[in-house]
Amino acid sequence: MLRPILHLGLHIIVPGTMAKLLFSDRWKTAWMWMMSAMIIDLDHLLTNPIYDPNRCGINFHPMHSLPAIAVYALLAAIPKTRLVGFGLLIHIILDGMDCVWMNVI
Ligand SMILES: [Zn+2]
Repeated sequence: MLRPILHLGLHIIVPGTMAKLLFSDRWKTAWMWMMSAMIIDLDHLLTNPIYDPNRCGINFHPMHSLPAIAVYALLAAIPKTRLVGFGLLIHIILDGMDCVWMNVI
């Protein structure tokens, strides 16, 4: 029960911390753009159950697949889409960490 709450908290705290560290002069805007990456979790609506705390989303949900992650890396490399790209990659890394924790905790 603690893991899903911690995971959700990290989805808010990590982009905020990265925004403060990397974009201190406009961290609120950077944080908002990075948080917009949460929209990829709409792909959970395609599954039944929508949320399963014991399911690893990486390579299960379409927006969490390797081709999608490659697009996120591309977005992070383009200056105009960098903030969204960073947010998407942070999201994927946090989801990946959750998959690892799933087997540990
Ligand atoms: Zn996700």
